[in-house]
Amino acid sequence: VSDLAGRQVTVAGLGVSGVPAARALRGLGASVTVVNGSDGEPQRAQAAELEALGIAVRLGDGETLPKGAELIVTTPGWKPTSPLFLAAAEANVPVWGDVELAWRLRGEDAPPWLAVTGTNGKTTTVRMLAAILEAAGLRTAAVGNIGVSLLDIVLGDTPYDVLAVELSSYQLHWAPSLRAHSGAVLNLAPDHLDWHGSMAAYAADKGRIYEGNQVACVYNVVDPATEDLVRAADVEEGCRAIGFTLGTPGPSQLGVVEDILVDRAFVADRQKQAQELAEVSDVNPPAPHNIANALAAAALARAFGVPPKAVRDGLRAFRPDPHRVEHVADVDGVAYIDDSKATNTHAAEASLGAYEHIVWIAGGLAKGATFDELVLTAAERLRGVVLIGADRALIREALARHAADVPVVDLDRTDTGAMAAAVREAARLARPGDTVLMAPACASMDMFINYNKRGDAFAAAVQDLASGRGPDD
Ligand code: ADP
Repeated sequence: VSDLAGRQVTVAGLGVSGVPAARALRGLGASVTVVNGSDGEPQRAQAAELEALGIAVRLGDGETLPKGAELIVTTPGWKPTSPLFLAAAEANVPVWGDVELAWRLRGEDAPPWLAVTGTNGKTTTVRMLAAILEAAGLRTAAVGNIGVSLLDIVLGDTPYDVLAVELSSYQLHWAPSLRAHSGAVLNLAPDHLDWHGSMAAYAADKGRIYEGNQVACVYNVVDPATEDLVRAADVEEGCRAIGFTLGTPGPSQLGVVEDILVDRAFVADRQKQAQELAEVSDVNPPAPHNIANALAAAALARAFGVPPKAVRDGLRAFRPDPHRVEHVADVDGVAYIDDSKATNTHAAEASLGAYEHIVWIAGGLAKGATFDELVLTAAERLRGVVLIGADRALIREALARHAADVPVVDLDRTDTGAMAAAVREAARLARPGDTVLMAPACASMDMFINYNKRGDAFAAAVQDLASGRGPDD
């Protein structure tokens, strides 16, 4: 820590992670310069605040390395190929992300980290894990990419026994010295490839979570790429590869037997082959992808020595965050489910796989994705589809190729009122016993500020439908 006093540190980026990092570094006595490409009103306001603390801010140029810089602390907006980092590499200046900084600043007796990454399910798994650790009487918190800055936790006064840490691929990219107690990669599907450059680079960054693990590297048995990452990692002696599966677990795995979550990896009683942890119905909601999340959380907790009963109690206490396969209401025998957080095809595939007869509301910004595989796997369960948003034609064309007999209503709209219209169209297509599932497989920014607002619009429209109110768009 004292290392940074008097050092010339450049922070790349203002905003939610740049500003706290700059403050923390200044607090440690570093001489801090923040650089930021854009130079608008909000940036100037942030700059003025930082300057009052003795922090230099350079707006309008995020590419040139400031003279004398000895270290760069970066934020997710900067791609690895940014000229700033090329200049830093040439000058032998190290680049750290906020996680690397937090890891290095943690104290002597800092709590161990149980770390989670993956394309989808991170937030859910980390919250489940924290609930399980809490049920075991441990002082813990769900932190990291979930929206709680690790830097604040590490520099704060609250004592913890263990942390449940969500890490993004960006954070892992810039965290070379991170050594978690145990880590998990939940799954790997193409996402954020524009930032990482390639699927291989994205996977390798995710795999960094296993480096130096002490007790367990948790991987997904049906996603062999995650196991490959375990094999490639350099871990502490005695650290084990622990798989999770929705099927019957092998040795060193957690899985499901007759609707019971069982552990065959950390069985204390030598007489027993498997330890029962919880019932499938303890998982909220008990959809397959979410049972996988629960098993991954249980594996990390068990690696930390948590008893079986705490796994069950923690899973029972867990409440999902909004907009993740959230049951909004039943109207005329039809269930309305908000999975607005399904912002990519991998996530939508999970929720589409969880229901029998579905009227699917989809569309938004595709971010370069293709929809053939998703439509193929879901086709048999689709009662109908309602399309909204900018890239809806991509989904419509995939449906025409692979599910030509499924009725499709293309609303041809990108205004916010389109969601209410979509819900009414979906209600028309649905029969009692069906599920109307809003799992757009796309980002929301063409129509809404974020996925929360999109989910809220869906819920409001469903409430209107339930109360029999007329169209208000
Ligand atoms: P993340 O933090 O990785 O974005 P969330 O827990 O917020 O993950 O869930 C994001 C989306 O992915 C939601 O739509 C959710 O229904 C879906 N999802 C959650 N867990 C999984 C999983 N294990 N596999 C696939 N999709 C998942």
